[in-house]
Amino acid sequence: MIVLGFESSCDETGVAVVDADRGLLAHALYSQIEMHQEYGGVVPELASRDHVRRILPLTRQALTDAGLTLDDVGAVAYTAGPGLAGALLVGASVAQAIAWSRDLPSIAIHHLEGHLLSPLLATPRPDFPFVALLVSGGHTQLMRVDGVGDYTLLGETLDDAAGEAFDKSAKLMGLGYPGGPALSRLAEQGDASRFDLPRPKLHSPDLDFSFSGLKTAVLIKMKSLPEGDEQAKADLAAATQNAIVEVLVAKSVKALQQTGLKRLVIAGGVGANRLLRERLAERLTRLRGQAYFPPLELCTDNGAMIAFAAAMRLKAGMVDVDSRNTAFTVKPRWNLEDAGKRPEVA
Ligand code: ATP
Ligand code: MG
Ligand code: FE
Repeated sequence: MIVLGFESSCDETGVAVVDADRGLLAHALYSQIEMHQEYGGVVPELASRDHVRRILPLTRQALTDAGLTLDDVGAVAYTAGPGLAGALLVGASVAQAIAWSRDLPSIAIHHLEGHLLSPLLATPRPDFPFVALLVSGGHTQLMRVDGVGDYTLLGETLDDAAGEAFDKSAKLMGLGYPGGPALSRLAEQGDASRFDLPRPKLHSPDLDFSFSGLKTAVLIKMKSLPEGDEQAKADLAAATQNAIVEVLVAKSVKALQQTGLKRLVIAGGVGANRLLRERLAERLTRLRGQAYFPPLELCTDNGAMIAFAAAMRLKAGMVDVDSRNTAFTVKPRWNLEDAGKRPEVA
């Protein structure tokens, strides 16, 4: 079956075509980053309006690239939450309109389930069960994943997300938005050992994280730097990246030890970070386990992961393909564990 999937939870509009048996056929993506840069972060109203502008041209592009038309589509999927309400409504209403007018089933997908399953779009592909480290702009969680829809939260951040720690630290260094990629680029030229930054909760027995104290420490160091000392700034960027990565690696290893599992899946935008990828791959090799990553371009938000998650649900028999919803809701706040086994959001 061909699934047409939509993502519009934040500042990326994504549309993708997935064949439930053959995998990803095509995906089209537009990032609004440039538009929001001027404001130093995402402006919700602007985001919604831009999704409206982009979503239909992207749909045409994805279908054309796949060599298909709407007539070939067997099910429609969309991100139902979590995210910005107005932004979510754009993808949800377009998806539902297509489903309704074409008499197709529609599948509401949890955005984090999309991130979580995206490493299964790469090779090698992890088998269940595995531990997932979900590190994005809004979330930092460790999950035990026993199958599609079978998610147990092991630990999460008590304050800022890892992506937020990157973004906020970068902002303090005047690096613009989104800060993660910019900070890690600058860090390449820096010496991480020059600054001693805290590693919050590094040795705590739980699997939780805390990053807000790190941001404060970065602020204090930043204020102490001589104006225009670019090398010092690069050193601070390297130290910041090191501190975040070290905590993420240590807690992931702890989660593997506590669950007795050997497979670690990394998902979400921070999964694009090179140092994190290197350190995790290294540690897992030493532990005789394996680390799995999404394709680099599918770490941040995209439609492929949404269409793919829907295809996985279809294949697992978790979707009532005969049901037709005439209404839809979005869930700006929504726990992944609750999304697990539910048949459908109507
Ligand atoms: P959520 O998925 O929690 O709703 P989101 O969709 O905004 O949040 P993603 O798109 O998964 O998050 O990821 C965006 C985040 O990833 C940003 O915080 C960004 O700075 C970070 N990021 C992207 N690339 C890198 C990188 N190379 N190094 C560090 N962080 C990165
Ligand atoms: Mg984004
Ligand atoms: Fe995301």
